[in-house]
Amino acid sequence: MTSLKDPALAPLQGLRVAIIGYGSQGRAHALNLRDSDVDVVVGLRPEGASAAKARADGLTVVTPAEAARSGAIVMVLTPDMVQPEIYQQSIEPNIAQGALLMFAHGFNVHFGQIKPRADLDVALVAPKGPGALVRREYEQGKGVPCLIAVQQNPSGHAHELALAYCAGIGGTRGGVIDTSFAEETETDLFGEQAVLCGGATELVLQGFETLVEAGYQPEVAYFECLHELKLIVDLLHEGGLARMHQFISDTAQYGDLTRGPRIINEDTRARMREVLAEIRDGRFAEEWVAEHKRGNQRYQALKQRDLEHPIEVVGRKLRAQMSWLQPTPTKPA
Ligand code: NAD
Ligand code: MG
Repeated sequence: MTSLKDPALAPLQGLRVAIIGYGSQGRAHALNLRDSDVDVVVGLRPEGASAAKARADGLTVVTPAEAARSGAIVMVLTPDMVQPEIYQQSIEPNIAQGALLMFAHGFNVHFGQIKPRADLDVALVAPKGPGALVRREYEQGKGVPCLIAVQQNPSGHAHELALAYCAGIGGTRGGVIDTSFAEETETDLFGEQAVLCGGATELVLQGFETLVEAGYQPEVAYFECLHELKLIVDLLHEGGLARMHQFISDTAQYGDLTRGPRIINEDTRARMREVLAEIRDGRFAEEWVAEHKRGNQRYQALKQRDLEHPIEVVGRKLRAQMSWLQPTPTKPA
C-alpha cells in the first residue's frame, strides 16, 4: 500500500474507505480520496450505470455488501431515501465491529430512519457544495468547506478519522466547522427550502410572471429575473453585501434598499419560521419519507409542473445561443 504523504491524512494510513453510491457526492469523494493516495473501493449494484462510470474512472467496484465488509470507513452516498434499505440489507450485516459509518447529510440518523449498531462510530462530513464543485476545487488544489460532526464514538477516534477523511477530499483546504447531526440536518434542510432552492426559484418565477403578465417580453423578463441573478450571487459570494453595493448602480442600490424589504417582509419571516418548525419537529421528514414510500407521484408531478413553466421554454431558447455556458456535469443539490 502507498504511504500517505500528507500528515493530515495519517489516521487513514492502512485503512480502506468504502464509498457506497457514485452520484454527485460519491464520484467526487471517491476520486479525491484516490488522488490523495487513500485505499478506496466503491460499492454499487454491479450492473448499473454508476458502476460502469466508476470503472471507467479507474476505480474498483464491488457490491455494496462487499464494500461494507472491507471498509474500515464506510461512507454512504446514495440518495437519502434509499439509505435506510441499503443500511439494513447491505451495511449492517457486513460492516466490521467498531468501523466508522459516515454520511454527507445527517437526515437518516437524525430523524431515526437509520439506527446504527452501537459498536459503530458514526460521523458526518458534509461538503457545503455540490459534488462537481468538490471535485473541481480539489483538482485545482483548493477545497469546498465542510461541516463535520460525530454522533457515536465508542472507539474515541471518530472525529480524528472524519477530519482525515475531510482532508482526503480537500475539505480542510476550504475550512472545516464542527457541528452536530441536528444542526447540520436542520440548517441544510432550511437553507434548501427557504433560501437556496425553494426561496430563490420561487422569487425568480414570481418576478418573471409579474413582468410577462404586465405585457413585457418573456426574453427580457428571463434576463432580468433569472440570468442576471448569477452576477449578483457571484458578487455576494466573493465579498458579501459590500461587494455587491460596489458593483451595482446607485439607482439599483436605492431600489434594493427601499423595495427589497417590501418583497421579503415580516410575513415571509413568519413563514420561514413555520418551515423551520416543521423541519425541527420532524413533520417535513415524515412527509417526505411517506411520499417516497407511496411511490413519489406527487413529487414527480410537482417537478414536472416546474419543468413545464414558460420560463423553461424561453430559457432553453436563449441558453442555446449562449455558447459559453457549460452545464454542470452532475446534478447540483
Ligand atoms: P445522487 O443521487 O447523485 O447519487 C446516487 C448514487 O447512489 C448513484 O450512484 C446511484 O447509482 C446510487 N444508488 C441509488 N440507489 C442505489 C442502491 N439501491 N444501491 C446502491 N447504490 C444506489 O446522490 P447525491 O446527491 O450525491 O447524495 C448523496 C448524499 O450526499 C445524500 O446523503 C445527500 O443528502 C448528500 N449531499 C449531497 C449533496 C449534493 O451536492 N448532491 C451535497 C451535500 C450532501
Ligand atoms: Mg445542502
